[in-house]
Amino acid sequence: MANDASNVPSTWLGTCDLFSLEGKRAVVTGASRGIGRALAIGLAAAGADVVLIARDTALLADATETIHRHFPNRSATAHACDLTSVEEIAATVAAIHAQGPIDVLVNNAGVNIRTPALDVTPEEWQTIIDTDLRGAFFVAQSFGREMVKQGRGSIVNISSVGGHVALRTGVVYAAAKAGVIQMTKVLALEWGKHNVRVNGIGPWYFRTPLTENLLNQPAYLAEILARTPLNRVGELHELIGPTVFLASEAASYMTGQTLFVDGGMTIYGF
Ligand code: NAP
Repeated sequence: MANDASNVPSTWLGTCDLFSLEGKRAVVTGASRGIGRALAIGLAAAGADVVLIARDTALLADATETIHRHFPNRSATAHACDLTSVEEIAATVAAIHAQGPIDVLVNNAGVNIRTPALDVTPEEWQTIIDTDLRGAFFVAQSFGREMVKQGRGSIVNISSVGGHVALRTGVVYAAAKAGVIQMTKVLALEWGKHNVRVNGIGPWYFRTPLTENLLNQPAYLAEILARTPLNRVGELHELIGPTVFLASEAASYMTGQTLFVDGGMTIYGF
C-alpha cells in the first residue's frame, strides 16, 4: 500500500508548517534600515514576534510601527544599542531576556568603508572590525549563552560574498566577513550538542543605504551584472525566504552552513 498515509511519518506531513515561526521570538540586529529592516518584517510575516536592535531610535520606531500596522497580532519592540560596545550589548541582551526567551537571532548589523589596502587607517580597521566581527561575535555569544541554557535556538549570521571570494570592496570588510563565515562554523560545532544551530547568509548586491552609491554608478552596475548569472541585483524580499528557512524547523538538520544569496555570482568561474 504505497499511498497509505498511515505509513508516512508525521514529520513528513504539513511541510509548510515547517517554515512557520509562529510562537517564536526573534531578534534582528541592524534592523533600522536596509536588509535588517526587511528581515525583521519578513520574520514577523512568518509568524515571529520580533525585537529590533540598532542605534537610530527614529528609524527603529518607524520599523516597529510598520510591523504593527501590517501584523497587528505580532509583538515588535526596539532596543537602541551600539554594537561596538560589549557593555551595551550585555545590557541590551539582559533587557530583552527579561521579557522572555529568544528562539532566533539574525546577526545582521554591519558597516563598510571601501578604502584601498594601502590607504586603510587604523581607525577604519577598528570601525569595521568592531562592528562586523567583534560586535557580531559578542552578540552571538550573549544570545548564544541563553540559547545553550534553554537547549534550543537558531542563529543566522549575515556575512557577504565578499567574505568568500575576493572583491574590490575593501580588504578590512573582506577579512571581517570571512571571519563571520568561519565563526559560524565554529559556533555550530561548539553549540550543536545544545540544540543551537548556527548558519549564515552571504548576500551579493542588494540595494540599501550601504550600496546605493555604488549601484547608482551605471558603469559599476554593468560590471556587477556581467558577473551575475541572473543578470540583476537582489531584491530585499529575496533574502527573507533563505533567512526564514535557516531560522525555522525546515532547516533542523543544517548547521554551520552559509547560503550565498547571490544570483549565482559565486559559481561563475568564466
Ligand atoms: P545598511 O543599510 O547600511 O544597514 C546597516 C544596519 O546596521 C543599520 O540598521 C545600522 O543601524 C546597523 N548598524 C551599523 N553599525 C551599528 C552599530 N555600531 N550598532 C548597532 N547597529 C549598527 O546595510 P545593509 O546593506 O542593510 O547591510 C546589512 C548587512 O548585510 C551588513 O552586515 C552588510 O555587511 C551585509 N551585506 C549587505 C549587502 C548589500 O548588498 N546591501 C551585501 C552583502 C552583505 P544604525 O545606523 O541605526 O545603528
